Order: sequence, then C-alpha cells, then structure tokens
Amino acid sequence: MAFIVKKFGGSSVATTAKIVGVAERVLKEKEPDDKIVLVVSAMGDTTDELISMAKAIDNRPSQREMDMLLSTGEQITISLLTMAFQKLGVDAVSLTGGQAGIATSGVHAKARIVDVNPERILAELDKDKIVVVAGFQGVTELGDITTLGRGGSDTTAVALAGALGADICEIFTDVDGVYSADPRVVKDARRMKEITYNEMLEMARLGAVVMQPRSVEMGKHYGVPIHVRSTFTLEQGTIIREEYTMKEREFTIRGVTHDVNVAKVAILGVPDQPGIAYTIFSALAEKAIDVDMIVQSIRNADKKIIDMVFTISKPDVDQAKVLVEKLVKDMGALGVVIDENVAKVSVVGAGMYGSPGIAATMFGALGEAGVNIEVISTSEISISCLIKEDQVKEAVNAIHQKFFKE
Ligand code: ASP
Ligand code: MG
Repeated sequence: MAFIVKKFGGSSVATTAKIVGVAERVLKEKEPDDKIVLVVSAMGDTTDELISMAKAIDNRPSQREMDMLLSTGEQITISLLTMAFQKLGVDAVSLTGGQAGIATSGVHAKARIVDVNPERILAELDKDKIVVVAGFQGVTELGDITTLGRGGSDTTAVALAGALGADICEIFTDVDGVYSADPRVVKDARRMKEITYNEMLEMARLGAVVMQPRSVEMGKHYGVPIHVRSTFTLEQGTIIREEYTMKEREFTIRGVTHDVNVAKVAILGVPDQPGIAYTIFSALAEKAIDVDMIVQSIRNADKKIIDMVFTISKPDVDQAKVLVEKLVKDMGALGVVIDENVAKVSVVGAGMYGSPGIAATMFGALGEAGVNIEVISTSEISISCLIKEDQVKEAVNAIHQKFFKE
C-alpha cells in the first residue's frame, strides 16, 4: 500500500476531456489499497481569465474579493474531476481548501499555510474514497477564503503530503522532470533522477521555473519526497529529496541555470566614506527592491571615489532609476548607468564546496566561448556570472558542455 498525494496543474486539466484523462490515469496507476489524495489547479488559463474580468471592473480590486474570485477556478476542477471518478465507478469526494483543513494567514493573494488539520481528509480516505482537493486556497481563522500566490497548488500538495504523512508527493506537469539546464536552450540537457531540496531551491532562486520555491521549502520542512513527472507519460521523472539514494554518474554540478530577468545598476564615482553602502542599499530596501549581486570597486584611489555595481530584477528598474538618480545627487556621485541587456548564468551543486576548480572551469568555458563576465557572485552551492543577455544561449551551452560531457 502507498499513500500518495498527486497534484495536476492547469495545463493537465485544461479541458473536460483532459480531466477524464487524469481520472483514468490515476486509476491505471493505483494499486487496490493505495490511498490517493489529488490536488488540482484551475483549468488552463482560468486564473488569468478571472484576473482579466476583475481588471475590467477595477484596475486595483480589493485583494479579499480577488481571492474570493480566483478560488472559484480550482473549485470548478475539483467538482468535475470528482464527477469523472464517479462516472468511472469509483467513489470520490471533492473538498475546498477550507474543508480540507488548510488554515492560512490573513494576507490576501499571498497567504501562507499556518496549519493543516487533516481529519476530514483522513475520514474520507477511511471510507475508501479518492479525495480531490482544491489547490492554491485556504481559509483564515475568520473563515475568509485566501489564495497562496501564483503557482500555489504545488504548495498545497506538498503541505498536505507533509501533514498527512504521505509517502510521496507527485507533481504532474507538462515537463517530465528537472533537467540539468533548460531543455529549450540546451539540446542534450539531462533529466536528473534525483536532486536535493537545497539544490532545487538554489536552482529556482537562480532562474529555474519548474516548481514554486515555497513548495520545495515545504517539502524540506516536512521531509516529504517530491516527484516531478509528466502528465502525459508513465515514466519516472525527478525526485526532490534530502539526500541522494541512487548512484547516477557523479556530477558535482547538478544544474546550469540562467535568468534574463535582471538589470545591472552602476553608480559611478561615489565618495568613498563609511556609510555609503548603507545609504544606497537601505534606500532600495525601503522600496522593497531586491538587490542580488553587489560589487564595490575603486574608481580612483587618489580622489577616493568608488563605483558601486549591483543587480536588481527588471520589473524594479523604473522605480530604482528614480531613486538612484536622487541618491547620486545627494551623495555627489558622478552618475548612474542602468543596463537591461544582461543575464545571469549560474552553476549549482551541493558538492562544489571542497571541489576546487569548479569556478575556473566555468570561467574557462565562458572565456572560450567569447563571453565577457561583468560581475561574479558565489554561495556555498552556486557560482553566478553576469553576462550580456544576447549571449545567454551560447554561455549556458558552453558551461553545460564542460560539466556534463559524457
Ligand atoms: N491556478 C493558480 C495559478 O494559476 C494556482 C496554480 O496553478 O497552482 O496561479
Ligand atoms: Mg495555473
């Protein structure tokens, strides 16, 4: 017997025919004694369509009413999927997030799960039913409906798997696992059989988009393995877990990621005095602008001026520009240059600490490919380089080739 939580995303349940297909697929894989809880997203683009409808009425609708509206998307799917099981002669029941015992904070549109009370689900499983739960939603203490942020159904699934003590949480999606690089960019990217929570989180932070990072954190918190696999095949995908259990080939680097959603800000000729970094970065923090790579370098030692270069995400550029131009005036700096034609390429691997030469290999690959490195940053399990955006494809391929050659 296995106790499995299975999550199907919006593209897997985009039409009623696909919903029936999901029910058939679940039954095909189910052993007689398995306990199955399903978590589903809204059908296809339903969430986006609901957002457009709200915007047609008010560009800045109340967040509480947005949650009331968006949560209906998942409710359509749970009822239809449950009907599909019933039609196939299998007992099933649908539950909203609240009915499934998902308690959240009161921050509408990005609520956090604070508690899961699994009694109702367990009672339904005891009656031999397949339980179908609406993803992406929960309720506050007051009983108000909340949502967990875009892509939040992954988080629902992993949190339920954790609270229920399930053996595994399977995330069914339109890709068949986690790859060593984006397969649209690198033709011979490898599907990894396993990856650790920490590496997956780092890959997500550095641009990989397979899973909502919050759900990986949730898996790590509960110690539930997460199996990312395809809706359309029966093949094994990638299992995200604490430690490796299978011996694949030894790869120190597990992934090469890239992120084009970055911009470089260079504040030039800043007087070199105590407190300048504080002045700059506290002003950015106050506006909730996230800063990533930071380099301070001497511009002119005699004149005691420095350049401060850092990266932000592209959507923050307009706001940052206004703010930094004012800082330049206040601090008496020479000026500011903002470059949006940049991208960040990174290598991720928990084993790199204690493996000298990883950085040199990465820089060598970029040098051979004629890619100039503008900024470098490192963490314990990653190295990132800022390069020109239009060279990102060559850069990722060159690096991948070095670390994953057969
Ligand atoms: N339907 C929600 C969204 O589109 C939640 C999800 O799909 O996970 O963001
Ligand atoms: Mg969706």
